[in-house]
Amino acid sequence: MNYQYPVKSIVIAGGGTAGWMTAAKLSHHFANTDIKITVVESSEIGTVGVGEATIPTLRRFYQSLGMDDMEVMSKTNATIKLGIEFKDWFKPDTSFIHPFGVFGHDANGIRFHHYWMKLRDMGDSQPLEKYSLGIALARANKFTFPAENPASPLSIFDWALHFDAALFATLMREHSLANGVVHIDAKIAAVNLHNHSGFIESLTLDDQRNVNADLFIDCTGFHGLLIADALKTPYVDWSQWLLCDRAMAVQSELVGEPAIRTVSKAHTAGWQWKIPLQHRQGNGHVYASHFTDEAQAEEILVQHIDGKVLHSPRKFKFIPGRRAQAWNKNCIAIGLAAGFLEPLESTSIALIETGIEKICGSLPTPFFNEEKIDYFNQVTATEWERIRDFIILHYKANQRDDSEFWRYCRAMSVPDSLQQKIDAYYDHGDLLHYPWEIFHPDSWLAIYSGFNFYPQHYNKNVDRLNVNYLKQSLAQMRTSIAEAIAGLPTHQEFINQHCKMPRV
Ligand SMILES: Cc1cc2nc3c(=O)[nH]c(=O)nc-3n(C[C@H](O)[C@H](O)[C@H](O)COP(=O)(O)OP(=O)(O)OC[C@H]3O[C@@H](n4cnc5c(N)ncnc54)[C@H](O)[C@@H]3O)c2cc1C
Repeated sequence: MNYQYPVKSIVIAGGGTAGWMTAAKLSHHFANTDIKITVVESSEIGTVGVGEATIPTLRRFYQSLGMDDMEVMSKTNATIKLGIEFKDWFKPDTSFIHPFGVFGHDANGIRFHHYWMKLRDMGDSQPLEKYSLGIALARANKFTFPAENPASPLSIFDWALHFDAALFATLMREHSLANGVVHIDAKIAAVNLHNHSGFIESLTLDDQRNVNADLFIDCTGFHGLLIADALKTPYVDWSQWLLCDRAMAVQSELVGEPAIRTVSKAHTAGWQWKIPLQHRQGNGHVYASHFTDEAQAEEILVQHIDGKVLHSPRKFKFIPGRRAQAWNKNCIAIGLAAGFLEPLESTSIALIETGIEKICGSLPTPFFNEEKIDYFNQVTATEWERIRDFIILHYKANQRDDSEFWRYCRAMSVPDSLQQKIDAYYDHGDLLHYPWEIFHPDSWLAIYSGFNFYPQHYNKNVDRLNVNYLKQSLAQMRTSIAEAIAGLPTHQEFINQHCKMPRV
C-alpha cells in the first residue's frame, strides 16, 4: 500500500552547519504553509565547525535564500577560493591546481583536451594548465567577478568561498529564526519510537519536555542520534579505498596575503590543508591511522604551519562511508549524520546542500510515501558513490614512492564504477559524466593531468584541423588569458574593496 504520510511538523535535531542550513532552506520552502519547523540543539555539546572550504554550489545555495555573495563574505570573514592546489601529490616537489572552471574551448563537438593532446604528441610542451583562466588567476593571486558575456575570456571560471563555518551557521540561524523557525537549546536525552511502525514519535529533552513531529531531520553530526542510535540504520564502510580515518585541525595567524586557493600538501600517510580566511588560517592534517600515529601526525602538522599556532589541535576520528539509507522511516539524515568521506575536495557541505534540495524536491506537497523514500535513497547513494570515486582517484593516481601509504594506494583495486571511467579516459580520452555527479568533466581532467595521466589516443577527428591553425588558436588562448588577468586587483585588494569583515 502506498500510504501518504502527512507532514505538519518537522523537527531538526542538531544546530551545526547542517542543522541551520536545513532550517534556513526548509523555512523558505514551506514559507506559505503552516508547517512548524523546530531546531533542537545543545550549546553544551557544540559543533564540528571545521568545514571552512566550499565549492561553488554553496553560492547557489545561499543565493536561493536571497543572500548575496559580498554580504555573506563580509559576515563570515571569507576569502575567495578558485580551486585547490595539490602539492607533492603526484610526486614530491610537484604542484597542480584543480580549478573551478574549464580548460580551453571545445570545438566541432570535440573536447579541448583532444586538440591539446595532438600538439603534445607533436612535441609541444605547453602544459594544460596554461589554458585555464581559473588557474592563471589562482597562481597570480588575483580576482575579479566572472564576466556575464560568454564570449569573454573572463567568463570561463567559477569560484567558491573559504569561510568561518561558525559564522556561516550563525547567518543561517538568523535567517531561519527570522522565517519563524522555533529554536530549543536542550540536550536530546531519548528518541521515542512508535511500538508498531518503528517511526520516531518524539524526542525527550533533558528538561523532560517531549518534542513531537511528523518528520525528523537528523543533523546531530557524527553522533547520528536518530538515524543510527535509534533507528539502527547500517553504515556502508568505504575504508578499503579511503584510508584516511583521522584528522586534526588547528588555527594559526595569517602570514602575508591570503591565498586564493586551498592548499593541500601530501605527507607520508595523508595530507595537510591550509585554508586562509581574512583574519587567520585554518590548518589540518588528515591521515591514515594504519600508517602513522597521532604523535607523528601532530608533529608533521605543526612543522608545516607558517604562522603562530593559536590553540592546541582538535582531533577527529571517522569511518569513511555513508549511511545505507539516508532516509529511514520518518527520519532523514543530513550532514555528518548521513556519513563522511573525508575533507579532500570539500564535498561535505556540498552534500548537505544536495540533501536539502532533495528534501524540497520530495516534498512539493507536504506528504511522503515509500516511493519517495526509495527514490531519495537511490539518488543519495549514487551521488555519494560518484564523489567517492573522484576522491579515490586522487590517491590511486599518485606516483610517490616514499612511503608504504602511497604505494598501497597506488596498488589498490578501485570500485568498478571508477575503473570504468579511468579505462574510458585512458583508451580514448573520454571523460564519462553521469547523472548526479557534482564534479564536471573538467574537474576529472584537472586531476588526471595533474597526475600526468594521459590517454593513449586523442580523437582522430582533430586531424581534420590544419595544424598551423590549431597552433595559432592555442597560442591565442594563452595570450588572451595573460591579457585578461594583467590589470586585475590582487585577492587582498578585492577583499578590501568589496567584502572586508568589519573588526570590532
Ligand atoms: C576534519 C574535518 C574537516 C572538514 N573540512 C571540511 C571542509 O573543508 N569543507 C566541507 O564542506 N566540509 C568539511 N568537513 C565537514 C563539515 O565540517 C561538516 O559537514 C559540517 O560541519 C556539518 O556538520 P554537522 O552539522 O553535520 O555536525 P556538527 O557540526 O557536529 O553538529 C551537530 C549538532 O548536533 C547537536 N547535537 C549532537 N548531539 C546532541 C544531543 N544529544 N542533543 C542536542 N543536540 C545534539 C550539536 O549540538 C550540534 O549542534 C570537515 C569535517 C572534518 C571532521
